[in-house]
Amino acid sequence: MKAVLDHVGIAVKDLQAALAFYRDALGLHVEAPEEVVSQRVRAHFLPVGQSSLELLEATSADSTIAKYIDKRGPGLHHITLRVDDIAAALAHLKARGARLVDEQPRPGAEGSQVAFIHPSSAHGVLVELKQARVPSSEQRAASAVTRFALGSLELISLFDGFFRLDGGAMFGVVPKALWAKPAPPDERNRILMAMRPLVVRGARTMLIDAGLGDKDDEKFHEIYGVDRSRNLDHTLAEAGVSPDDIDIVLASHLHFDHAGGFTVRDASGRIRPKFRRAQYIVRRGEWEDATHPHERNRASYIADNFVPLAEAGVLQLVDDDQTIMPGVRVRRTGGHCMHHQMVLIESGGRTAAFVADLIPTTAHLSPPWIMGYDLYPMDTLAAKKAFLDEAVAKNILVFFEHDPAVPAGHIREENGKRRVVPALS
Ligand SMILES: [Zn+2]
Ligand SMILES: [Zn+2]
Repeated sequence: MKAVLDHVGIAVKDLQAALAFYRDALGLHVEAPEEVVSQRVRAHFLPVGQSSLELLEATSADSTIAKYIDKRGPGLHHITLRVDDIAAALAHLKARGARLVDEQPRPGAEGSQVAFIHPSSAHGVLVELKQARVPSSEQRAASAVTRFALGSLELISLFDGFFRLDGGAMFGVVPKALWAKPAPPDERNRILMAMRPLVVRGARTMLIDAGLGDKDDEKFHEIYGVDRSRNLDHTLAEAGVSPDDIDIVLASHLHFDHAGGFTVRDASGRIRPKFRRAQYIVRRGEWEDATHPHERNRASYIADNFVPLAEAGVLQLVDDDQTIMPGVRVRRTGGHCMHHQMVLIESGGRTAAFVADLIPTTAHLSPPWIMGYDLYPMDTLAAKKAFLDEAVAKNILVFFEHDPAVPAGHIREENGKRRVVPALS
């Protein structure tokens, strides 16, 4: 068996103190943190040559790392060896009498597969085996950071992972025989959707929506088929934007797949705004609806995603359609929810639109292809038709927040038929 040292895991009690040593005193670079939801752990990797140090921070008191620290104190937690074929490696170890914590590989960070070997077989050290995922070229392309110049503004389409929603619910009255072609369902009838927040860089740096975030538990991830192995932290870092660069966070609306990333849970379990310097801008009517949900919309509004913003004093409510920063204005569409808004971005005579759930994917281009989730579908229909006319006439660059493959495109009309021409950047 060929094995390479992948990383050394260190259980950390006080992350800031640990960073003061590993990052500041040793001068190592820290990568964007990674959440391992099932373990209630946040991992901070510091590359050292071909391998890394991994600082492991508990995100809740019942985390395996919190329990480890309670028992043994902070310190060396495990070493990870990377192998080409984890199933073969486990079979080999088992045949040699090694005691395995995991008889079968299980999902690890970044789409990898991992399995632990018991310390009693490894002379007092917890050993993790890991087989890295090789993402397909389609997955790589679908989760890429894409940059667009619009006059004097820069637009950067980010990615916060994939999730899955029921295909029937996503297309309302449209029969499956029709929607299953553009949006093929999985064995549970769910279709693949992405989350694509958008950065606008101009007079200030704005983030529009923030994806799902990392506060949800394993059960939630299972129900919604969440894959955040590549997420907002990775794509922000790739875009060269630090969370502390964000001046304004603008919400299209407060459903969990748009506002989940507004807040994070820290090691003490407290929830705080993720973007420390930002003002968060929400439409007042949407705030009222989100904080007073009813039976029909309750599952979409999770208070932890937005109530901490008000508590931290970083929430700003806007009443009407207006300019949020030079070149960026909001327009209420209603339909999906009463105060759903889209964002229009204009510079140098060109226009882009972040339409959020008005047209969530390119498969929703046809006016009657409206989500069953929409509270006021006839309002969606009217807003969508008006916007599509405008998009064709003005050659608007349209951002599709949930499309699994196409972050943005232009809408072309040929022989009375409309289609999306993907924009490459
Ligand atoms: Zn929504
Ligand atoms: Zn949505």
